[in-house]
Amino acid sequence: MGLRTMKFGGSSVADADKIITVAKRIAAAREAGDDVVAVVSARGKTTDGLVAMANEISDRPDPREMDMLLSTGERISCALMAMALHDLGHEAISFTGSQAGILTDGSHTKAKIMEIRAERLREALDGGAIVLVAGFQGVSTDGRNVTTLGRGGSDTTAVALAAALGADVCEIYTDVTGVFTADPRVEPGARKLPLVSHEEMLEMAATGSKVLALRSVEFARRHDVPLHVRSSFLPEDGTWITKETPDMENAIVTGLSHRSDEAKVMVSGVENRPGVAAQIFTALADRNLNVDTIIQNQSVGEGADVTFTVPLDELRPALETIEGIRDALGYRELTSDDQIGKVTLIGAGMKSEPGVAAKMFRVLGEQGINLQMIDTSTIRITVVIDRREVERAVRALHDAFDLAGEAARRADV
Ligand code: ASP
Ligand code: MG
Repeated sequence: MGLRTMKFGGSSVADADKIITVAKRIAAAREAGDDVVAVVSARGKTTDGLVAMANEISDRPDPREMDMLLSTGERISCALMAMALHDLGHEAISFTGSQAGILTDGSHTKAKIMEIRAERLREALDGGAIVLVAGFQGVSTDGRNVTTLGRGGSDTTAVALAAALGADVCEIYTDVTGVFTADPRVEPGARKLPLVSHEEMLEMAATGSKVLALRSVEFARRHDVPLHVRSSFLPEDGTWITKETPDMENAIVTGLSHRSDEAKVMVSGVENRPGVAAQIFTALADRNLNVDTIIQNQSVGEGADVTFTVPLDELRPALETIEGIRDALGYRELTSDDQIGKVTLIGAGMKSEPGVAAKMFRVLGEQGINLQMIDTSTIRITVVIDRREVERAVRALHDAFDLAGEAARRADV
């Protein structure tokens, strides 16, 4: 007998029929003889609705009260799921994050899990019950306040519980059948990947794939939790996300991700002296702005130019922040571009394979797509391009690297 952690996303519990369908799936896992801990997200667009509700009341809702509000969505789902399981003849009990022993730091609306005290869950499991846990929330160790883990945080709840309880696998049930070589809405020929490494998934989540919350993948990698992303409504296997195996060494390029909601900020003619970059990025970090790709180079005029990207909705605060330190920095000009996007090619096999970047740039060049910035890691190449060309770039690269076929997984790129 094993222990299964199953997480169900908001679209999988959006209405009563879906809750009952999911309950049957949980019941089947239990009937197969496993202990089951199921984590559920808020139903459908509930969390968006709660955010909107707060914004109707206040421009600057207090973060502590925001967490009291946001945490209710998941409580609703797991109580309803327990009722559905009761009607199927199963013993089931739901817990809030706090009751489940999920202890976090005190940073409201983006708290980090510090520790899980799972005694209460273990007792319930030992008593034979199916355990349901409200995703996306915990309780702070300092103030004993309800906290939430940031949007998409139910994934993190599930992975953290799988690690704490020593589950064999953390299953993530969702409205797609797995992780694809590209977003199927952009590239209809995208193929479901049977196997992806934690490292690759981390890069995918960080560069635009929305299948899993970034922090949940970090957690899974750190604690070596195998993930299985699969459909809530179809029986087929989805995508396994595990630590790198010898099998994966053949994979040169695994997939593509993209983002269309990015902006670029250029600070031109800053003084070329030690500490300038630190000044810029400390000011941005102090305002919690998510800076991504950064380039610094010698200016055509005097000094240096610093260019970086931010999510589109953080462009305004980013510009205000830089303007706010203009006197201290002494730059010549501050400009921005709100029409950019990013396309990223990912593959564990790139580490030891020269020529992948050259091929990527050649393909984009042939498409007449201009590269504004380039950023790489050992297993990723990201290009910043005009937003209007993002989808065309994804399709051209998917085709050129034969991601729909098997060739990309052989050493013949
Ligand atoms: N309900 C939360 C959200 O919409 C958490 C989650 O679904 O994972 O972000
Ligand atoms: Mg999600």
